[in-house]
Amino acid sequence: MTTFPRAGLAQNFVAGHWAEGDEGGVVAIEDPGTQEHLANCACAGEASVARALDAARAGVERGSLADMPPAERAALMHRIAAEIRAIAGEAGEMLCRESGKTLEAAQGEFEEAAQYFAYYGGVADKIEGKSIPLGPGYLDYTLYEPYGVSAQVVPWNFPVALAARSLAPALAAGNSVVVKSPELDPIGLAMLGSALERAGVPEGCVSLLCGIGAELGARLVASSEVDQIVFTGSVPTGQSILHAAAETVTPSVMELGGKSAAVAFEDADLDGLMASVKNGVYFNAGQVCSAMSRLLVHRSIYAQAVERAVALSQGLSIGHGLDNPDLTPLISAQQLTRVEERVQAAAQEGVRVACGGTRLPGPGYFMAPTVLAEVDPASRIAQEEVFGPVLCMIPFDSETEAIELANAPDFGLVAGVFTQDLSRAHRVAAKLRAGQVFVNEWFAGGVATPFGGVGRSGFGREKGLEALYNYVRTKNVAVALNRGS
Ligand code: NAD
Repeated sequence: MTTFPRAGLAQNFVAGHWAEGDEGGVVAIEDPGTQEHLANCACAGEASVARALDAARAGVERGSLADMPPAERAALMHRIAAEIRAIAGEAGEMLCRESGKTLEAAQGEFEEAAQYFAYYGGVADKIEGKSIPLGPGYLDYTLYEPYGVSAQVVPWNFPVALAARSLAPALAAGNSVVVKSPELDPIGLAMLGSALERAGVPEGCVSLLCGIGAELGARLVASSEVDQIVFTGSVPTGQSILHAAAETVTPSVMELGGKSAAVAFEDADLDGLMASVKNGVYFNAGQVCSAMSRLLVHRSIYAQAVERAVALSQGLSIGHGLDNPDLTPLISAQQLTRVEERVQAAAQEGVRVACGGTRLPGPGYFMAPTVLAEVDPASRIAQEEVFGPVLCMIPFDSETEAIELANAPDFGLVAGVFTQDLSRAHRVAAKLRAGQVFVNEWFAGGVATPFGGVGRSGFGREKGLEALYNYVRTKNVAVALNRGS
């Protein structure tokens, strides 16, 4: 049995075996809550990428997953879910230490990962084609075939849950997968790999590679051995991957950033809204693609909403993730500097810093919970992703104006409507340019609800039944029947 973390540097699961890196480099992992060194992870290099892709291809050619009887594939997925749940306590603690998130959220990531495997385990034997009527003399039907080798690149903010979000439907559909883990917090994902190994994933059908982003990730996605790319991360990296995908004409799913807005009308329940602000802005220290980074409030309740948001922010408990506070550190010194600089630049441009605005004394990469008020909707801070515990509050006077403001940035990941008027909720939801709209509760939904972006937030949908169709392609079989004599 493999347990992590283990002595040495064996953090790469390649072709069914745990291996050290092959170019001698290491990634040093630090605890962002204490700035103490936690572990070194071996960097996979060119040789590991090649071995992982060869093993994945061999798995595809053997039909290890695609030809497995669907009910057996479903059973494998449920075994994986059980193995993930079995390590959630210990592995969640490691993820908490390496990512800075709360213990509850880290263990919750493993639970969410288990739910993805259980959910797609439930559909692994129900990937059914259609029969298409062509009239007498013809039989026509469609088959859903796996792509083959899926290359998946995962970001650091939810490394375990997001890896599982793509791995589970890909395996349920019969693909082999090579995952590039995030360099800032790869250990929890390696522990997820150990759960897959124990559940009996066929050799080579899953590989996990750890290494420095642009080098390892770029090598992986550019390979002509890759049949499909799934990328979750920032817009610039997504664009660079799309260039590589254009060269090899490889189908891609892009789950990119966001600048999502909640729209609170004058009849919004302010207690419910503030509960959503707490979760939407401060969960994972705001390092969430679908964070509520803008709050648009009807002018009649705007002053009250700002006051409540400030009181909420100033009352948050702040500390190391192991203590389950309301607000945890950012992942790295670089991320803290980036967030602080964005806020300072906004302040210099005249935005009112209603609270927070600067880093907090260390150790640990803590940013003060920040509320920016009367934010100019055209300003950079209102248009660009900050990826930290920062809320931009903007007043509006009419429904039409609120929709225009909400839809103004190039991003369109999620949005929210807070109102007690059901007709207005549906009317506005229909007009918001986003892949998912929350009504009266930010982050409502779950593993079964489709998620993804429009505009610069990307394309393709993850989660739910919808996502399964990212991982298969349709083949049509058109048969001219022998009409007899
Ligand atoms: P990032 O783009 O810097 O890195 C994402 C991953 O890509 C990492 O594993 C990195 O090592 C790898 N990478 C970097 N350069 C690469 C290249 N040239 N080729 C291939 N791989 C490369 O993003 P990040 O900072 O890790 O994550 C934060 C971003 O991710 C935010 O913009 C956030 O909104 C977005 N995100 C989106 C979703 C979603 O579902 N839409 C979910 C989580 C995070």
